[in-house]
Amino acid sequence: MTDIYGSTRKKLADKLTELGEKPSRADIIFPALYGELIDDLSVLPLKKESLDTACGNFSLRLPECTDVLTSDGADKFLFRLSDGNTVESVLMKHGFGYNVCVSTQVGCNMGCAFCASGRLKKIRDLTVSEMVGQVLMIRRSLGERINGISIMGIGEPLENLANVLDFIDIMMYPKGFDIGIKHITLSTCGLVPKIYELADSASPVNLAISLHAPDDTLRRRIMPITGKYPLADVIGAARYYSDKNNRRVTFEYVMLDGINDSDKCAEKLSSLLGGLNCYVNIIRYNPSEGSPFRCSPHERIMTFYDILKKHGIGVTMRRELGASVGAACGQLRANGIDKLTNL
Ligand code: SF4
Repeated sequence: MTDIYGSTRKKLADKLTELGEKPSRADIIFPALYGELIDDLSVLPLKKESLDTACGNFSLRLPECTDVLTSDGADKFLFRLSDGNTVESVLMKHGFGYNVCVSTQVGCNMGCAFCASGRLKKIRDLTVSEMVGQVLMIRRSLGERINGISIMGIGEPLENLANVLDFIDIMMYPKGFDIGIKHITLSTCGLVPKIYELADSASPVNLAISLHAPDDTLRRRIMPITGKYPLADVIGAARYYSDKNNRRVTFEYVMLDGINDSDKCAEKLSSLLGGLNCYVNIIRYNPSEGSPFRCSPHERIMTFYDILKKHGIGVTMRRELGASVGAACGQLRANGIDKLTNL
């Protein structure tokens, strides 16, 4: 059986051809799956033979939602996958509508020191249908349209790029979720070759890079990936991304007290990013249990902000829970959502 939620429209059409069906039936099946949200293939408006083929060859398996925890305008959905592993997604209401933050891996191997999500080592990549399933289950329970997707839950999405690209393709299908490319944001810790690959793909969504330090020495301390991809290469890839797609790149910068929040850090960050079509998203750190870090004091954050501004760097500061959750790769828990588990 083929997992139907794992197929893009094109892959579904190819599969239908292989089964001796007209590929154009994909244009009946896809709107039914993602527009009408059917949960039974036997209700498809197809002739009996085609229905038998569909029911006999495709499964409609979705992750099981085991819990929904609500706090501060954000709902965290916990999902159990078919192999017993669990992932989480977050639904937030913004001014423009609903946004879902999805996970892309079970665990994460990137080892960012401030990230609670990364404490669980990667077990595996999520399949396309497991990513689609997170959004679909939330869409069903919400009963309203989803307007944006953040690919910045647990996991490093660029390590799972092929599946993530298919997931994006399904999210953008016009008669289904119909989410525009400018409403999809992917956050990475900076896997340089994959940033180029995404830039050259058919779906160059908004790119957010978790930066969190203005030089290699400091960044290596809190983000080990810097040993493999130094900042100069990350910035080069960001420039390519921005130039190729005429897109502003976001740099996430979480404020860690006494670590990366000095005036000198702000000056260095300004030099590093000067001339790049980008903005910095300053995030208040919300420590999870056992974290060795604390959030910088408010005055320090404001001074840091002012220095960036003075140098002409675009900068935003988001304090509300939902925005924080949607603001940084794997920061779901570090930014406060883990509090939900204590409710
Ligand atoms: S911040 Fe992102 S890349 Fe880093 S450990 Fe957490 S989930 Fe992984």
